[in-house]
Amino acid sequence: GPPIDAAFLRRWLDAATAAIDREAPVLTELDSAIGDADHGTNMRRGFTAAHTAVEQEPPDTPGGVLVAVGRQLISSVGGASGPLYGTLLRRAGKRLGDEPVVGAAQLRDALRAGVEGVGQLGGAAAGDKTMLDALLPALEALSGALDAGGGTAEAFAAAATAADEGAQATIPLRARKGRASYLGERSIGHQDPGATSSALLITAFADTARE
Ligand code: ADP
Ligand code: MG
Ligand code: MG
Repeated sequence: GPPIDAAFLRRWLDAATAAIDREAPVLTELDSAIGDADHGTNMRRGFTAAHTAVEQEPPDTPGGVLVAVGRQLISSVGGASGPLYGTLLRRAGKRLGDEPVVGAAQLRDALRAGVEGVGQLGGAAAGDKTMLDALLPALEALSGALDAGGGTAEAFAAAATAADEGAQATIPLRARKGRASYLGERSIGHQDPGATSSALLITAFADTARE
């Protein structure tokens, strides 16, 4: 795959912003079933702000891009997903530090630190029907593929598949965190919006790594 530098992370941001823009109606539809019908709007606002900020002042390291995106998500998204995704990306970016080029294992470790931050901030665990139900299997697949000697593109492709499967596997779950948890049993039978957007963000990494 291509080197993981600032340009790589900017291409990821382009792909992520486009995917969120395209899928915003679906995300909002999912959130209308078990939430307050704003997840697509929230994500679109956040990623549009992040994309604009990074275009205006392009960071020169991969960590810098992730920190800038995280900061914009935190400041522009009112819903739960803004601080959660913002924490994920800011933490991941800080973990990468000032290095101009990082390896796939470093990016994996940084994303793991970020996902741990989501768990700490939101108090959710696997199976609670949240974004973590896509993110945790994605990390596991990414790690497994890299540890098995797979390349960056192959590993992120495996992560994207696992994230998609994880998002779909939220359908039969009962929500235990976030707004959907207010519905109790009635949250069963619907796919979690945040797990769905997480799968889009991971797929954007797979698309970027494949180029
Ligand atoms: P809000 O619920 O404030 O309207 P969004 O609709 O943008 O925010 O995001 C909802 C998504 O956020 C949920 O589908 C879920 O995946 C995620 N989420 C909510 N609370 C938590 C939490 N405590 N931990 C992890 N993810 C959460
Ligand atoms: Mg919502
Ligand atoms: Mg809301």
